Amino acid sequence: MSSPVDEKDTVSHNFIENIIDKDISEGRCKKVITRFPPEPNGYLHIGHAKSIVLNSGIAKEYGGVFHLRFDDTNPMKEEAGFVNSIIEDVKWICGDLDTDQIYYASEYFDTMYECAIKLIKKGKAYVCDLSADEIRQYRGTLKEPGKPSPYRERPIEENLDLFERMRSGEFEDGSKVLRAKIDMASPNMNMRDPVLYRIATVTHHNSGDKWCIYPMYDFAHPIEDAVEGISHSLCTLEFEDHRPLYDWVVDELEFENPPKQIEFAKLYLTNVVTGKRYIKKLVEDGVVDGWDDPRLVSIAALRRRGFTPESIRNFITLSGISKAQSSSDYAMLEYCIREDLKMKRPRMMAVLDPVKLIITNYPESEIEYLDVANNQENEAMGLRKVPFGRELYIDRADFMIEPPKKYFRLYPGNEVRLMNAYFVKCTGYETDGQGNVTKIYCTYDPETKSGSGFTGRKVKGTIHWVCAETAEKAEVRLYENIVDEEKGVYNENGEINLNPDSLTVLENCYIEPALAEALPMDSFQFVRHGYFCADSKDSAKDHLVFNRIVSLKNSYKPG
Ligand code: ATP
Ligand code: MG
Repeated sequence: MSSPVDEKDTVSHNFIENIIDKDISEGRCKKVITRFPPEPNGYLHIGHAKSIVLNSGIAKEYGGVFHLRFDDTNPMKEEAGFVNSIIEDVKWICGDLDTDQIYYASEYFDTMYECAIKLIKKGKAYVCDLSADEIRQYRGTLKEPGKPSPYRERPIEENLDLFERMRSGEFEDGSKVLRAKIDMASPNMNMRDPVLYRIATVTHHNSGDKWCIYPMYDFAHPIEDAVEGISHSLCTLEFEDHRPLYDWVVDELEFENPPKQIEFAKLYLTNVVTGKRYIKKLVEDGVVDGWDDPRLVSIAALRRRGFTPESIRNFITLSGISKAQSSSDYAMLEYCIREDLKMKRPRMMAVLDPVKLIITNYPESEIEYLDVANNQENEAMGLRKVPFGRELYIDRADFMIEPPKKYFRLYPGNEVRLMNAYFVKCTGYETDGQGNVTKIYCTYDPETKSGSGFTGRKVKGTIHWVCAETAEKAEVRLYENIVDEEKGVYNENGEINLNPDSLTVLENCYIEPALAEALPMDSFQFVRHGYFCADSKDSAKDHLVFNRIVSLKNSYKPG
């Protein structure tokens, strides 16, 4: 008998999973442990989300463990203030994160120091008195080999003594470094006796003044990975040339089951600004409302805008994991959030640019409550009561005095359906001095109530509305790309070409009363307008503020 097709065979693995599969099947890896290693020197953005999703996803897939490890070994660049925002962001993307998954590289300073001593004792590291400039000159170029430092052959005892005195603060910053003794003629510049430790009399946010020597990234990182038992150290392509040094460090230090570094391509978004330097300037210049301004793609901004972790994870998966540099489209991210919210969120009525509609044959001061499905595509979401009355608001764009051809919404003499309610026929309107429509008059036909099974006649247009008497006021913020896409991201001075219309604030919107209960971060579909989320910073019971997450129209086609 032929065996049924194994479902697992049909799921294609990315190149990293293929490597891990092999390491497991050949006995090199007993447990998959991965890590995301941010420096606490800024906010995380959508690019970092790729690394978080990849690393945490791999750990989960293989029943392993994922570490968030702060790469806080450089006392010059860090601010402790970023630690909490990074934890919050990683937690949000992953869904959960236990405190025992959080690590700090600065807690390994003692181990790193011992590792350096071990290298010195093996004759693999030496104290060098050349200045930074001299070290650069001695290093040579891609075409020429470097020259050995005059201190390269210092005896081991002297190196141990000098390194100990470096540690005890005897020497000035920059006067001595510890270097690996590898190969001054290596075609890989990183292998030409790289610096391992430098003197820096700086207070560290975690270790305080305990240390005045600090390890360099290329030395610290592999030790951090090895100490934590990381099996696969997934990093971005710029570290490819550093891999021989990574391997040298874990090899010379004789770690059992050393970690394996694998590089993948960064995530780039077309026409989107992610660089810390640029965003910092936008914040400082007051162009945006902080790092979490919903027009930005920091994780805090995406969260405030109303993106969900599921949508971000799907976006990363759709973008794919490979070694080839490429750029993803923001429209794909929008597709992912629409897909995620479509079945999960109630579809409510909101009028963003209101004009009054009066139904002259509807009883005065009567309010009736209509049963409306929360989500027509998801019955499980049930029904809600929506008030209806004689005076409504509709969106200005749904009425025209002189309509063009194929305009099926409201105009004098035309009949449309009021969504979830009745047919109304326009009988007249009023305008102000400038010709702006101020009131629209209609009659309704009680026979045509939605759900009544009325089949007498058909109309071509359906428009949404809210009942004027019970409506709540709200502010709605519409967002466009902060970059002027026509001009490209940067101008000739390296500054961002700003889109002057990236934010539109609509202050006089009317929403159905159920929306007044919205809590910060709650999201909804506003029918015909898109998906919206109550702003976590500014929305309050007496001043509701909604952000448009995304409009309904789809410019991205999957597959
Ligand atoms: P910098 O090092 O310039 O301060 P960074 O964005 O590299 O900025 P890190 O804190 O070093 O910040 O990044 C943490 C991790 O996120 C690194 O492993 C890095 O490779 C990864 N990462 C950063 N940007 C991206 C990106 N666009 N796509 C995928 N991974 C990224
Ligand atoms: Mg970095």
